[in-house]
Amino acid sequence: MGKALIIGCGGVASVAIHKCCQNSGEFTEICIASRTVAKCEALKEKLEKTTDTKITTAQVDANDVDALIRLIQEVKPDVVLNLALPYQDLTIMDACLATKTHYIDTANYEPEDTAKFEYKWQWAYRKRYEEAGITALLGSGFDPGVTGVFSAYALKHYFDEINYIDILDCNAGDHGYPFATNFNPEINIREVSAKGSYWEDGRWVETEPMEIKKVYDFPEVGPKDMYLLHHEEIESLALNIPGIRRIRFFMTFGQSYLNHLRCLEDVGMTSIEPILYEGKEIVPLQFLKAVLPDPSSLGPRTKGKTNIGCIFRGKKDGKEKNIYIYNVCDHQECYREVGSQAVAYTTGVPAMIGAMLVMNGTWRGPGVYNIEEFDPDPFMDALNRFGLPWKVSETPELVED
Ligand code: NDP
Repeated sequence: MGKALIIGCGGVASVAIHKCCQNSGEFTEICIASRTVAKCEALKEKLEKTTDTKITTAQVDANDVDALIRLIQEVKPDVVLNLALPYQDLTIMDACLATKTHYIDTANYEPEDTAKFEYKWQWAYRKRYEEAGITALLGSGFDPGVTGVFSAYALKHYFDEINYIDILDCNAGDHGYPFATNFNPEINIREVSAKGSYWEDGRWVETEPMEIKKVYDFPEVGPKDMYLLHHEEIESLALNIPGIRRIRFFMTFGQSYLNHLRCLEDVGMTSIEPILYEGKEIVPLQFLKAVLPDPSSLGPRTKGKTNIGCIFRGKKDGKEKNIYIYNVCDHQECYREVGSQAVAYTTGVPAMIGAMLVMNGTWRGPGVYNIEEFDPDPFMDALNRFGLPWKVSETPELVED
């Protein structure tokens, strides 16, 4: 039983808030605070008749540490769940530190002016969080998030040593638009237009964007083209999974998405360098975001499934062994339940679970932690209970080397 302050009220937050309200035994009270308070109020109005969770709202600029501190002091939450954008991670971590409040997020910090995401900025808070006696749980979405929990679970129950991890993120949903992104377009396009990389034998191997393509036959979805990307959980898993030799991350993309992306890149629309337009400075990628469909409007149109999971290769009792742990989620079922498509659903559910486990003390420890550092079992149970059931295949098709 406790009170959570949720910062941000976009696609992912909306799902997490629905799930907190379904779980009012744990979340007795939530405060939804975001830049546009009208969105928080609309969600409160929709949900308060359906739940015992007490809901309040607030306006906050999460770039302003002092405003965040004032808000936390007023609301007095047990945990802060950061579901704003990765640019706000450090200001929110600072405010949690100043008020000695536990912190949870779903994406690692990224400076707004450089498309480079890595954990070094957030890991730099370890000592200060330890000294303050508070917990920061980093990356409690699906990927990062559930993929780290799957890794810890595989290590705990199936292997003595894991040597290879392939993380596969397949979205076979069709929204009917020639081009749209399933979550914040600015964050999504920054991620997919960056250089790819994977971890092998103790070092990063860099690739050109979309250079490595494979085809994989996904359970319950079928064969899809997938491309190797850099992804943030590779960095922490490389440290936290002993004996690891290689970690790769693949995401599926359809041909239409890639053709449009290439064209937008070629004309400069994905650039994050500000340009002058009619005397005003604008960032092309932010302008592009403004003209693309709002991801939250895709829910009713998106049909099909997602399949996200990890293939592990390693050893048990001296013998080689492979397993695949994955979740399949149906866009339309998510929409019927919480009014969002599966990409927001698969992130919002683990965000609620991470906040719940920190809030009720199941996952606690002074310091800054990545998700695979905690006992995976309570999280795996909660995934089954809150809408993201997972399966284990002991005879998976492997991704070719
Ligand atoms: P949205 O753009 O839909 O929502 C972001 C929310 O943050 C909006 O409500 C926005 O307010 C609010 N916000 C932005 N800036 C500020 C600010 N300065 N102060 C207060 N509020 C602010 O994004 P998503 O819901 O798609 O993504 C949320 C997070 O989830 C991102 O960090 C994203 O990277 C992460 N994510 C993680 C995944 C994972 O699997 N780990 C997968 C997908 C996303 P406003 O309404 O005014 O714009």
